[in-house]
Amino acid sequence: MIVAMDGPSGTGKSTVSRRLAIRLGAGYLDTGAMYRAATVWVLDSGIDPENAAAVAAIADAIPLEIGTDPAIESVRLNGLDVGERIRTREVTAAVSAVSAVPRIRVILVEQQRRAAAAHDHIVVEGRDIGTVVFPRAEIKIYLTASAEVRARRRVGQSGGDYATTLADIERRDLRDSTRPNSPLRKADDAIEVDTSDLGRDEVIDRLVGIVEERMGATETRRTHE
Ligand code: C5P
Repeated sequence: MIVAMDGPSGTGKSTVSRRLAIRLGAGYLDTGAMYRAATVWVLDSGIDPENAAAVAAIADAIPLEIGTDPAIESVRLNGLDVGERIRTREVTAAVSAVSAVPRIRVILVEQQRRAAAAHDHIVVEGRDIGTVVFPRAEIKIYLTASAEVRARRRVGQSGGDYATTLADIERRDLRDSTRPNSPLRKADDAIEVDTSDLGRDEVIDRLVGIVEERMGATETRRTHE
């Protein structure tokens, strides 16, 4: 079973996806962390993230390893832990440009499919999981929240200025949803969950309910066939 979790940044998607995976006893894959790690590699290679041809030229050789245990975050480049580095503002500012390069997406999507194949059950989180990476995922969730709520949450978590954070979020949403290659968009068969007025635990309970209902329906269908 694959649970595809898509949606813009700042909806609480990562925490919720990780905790959902723990509740389900499933693996967890944070594909945003993969695009962020690729961005670290680009920056450390001295490449301008806006230079798509130069980024594409190194895409095949990114020495990225990502863990799928929901209890332990593990992102490595060449064996070195980059878990903190991928969350820096420098990387956040450059990641949309790097993730828009088609060759980067081809390489990382391959790696995502390999990682998922190693699990019976996995929660995969990103922007294009239900639309492109796993269009046949058993369960697709699209998490949303208003940009204002997302900015407020981010400032509450990591500090910073509200207006700048809101502008960053809106810029990244726009860029992610208008790029020609795998834009951020809700899959037609995804269930939309708006988290603006819900607490973390309420969101998780709702998602567990959706998964149980869906899996129950699949079981029932199987027994009747
Ligand atoms: O989820 P997170 O904020 O860590 O993702 C960082 C960036 O990686 C996104 O803004 C987007 O540009 C890119 N991304 C993507 N496709 C995914 C996951 C993330 O393009 N499946």
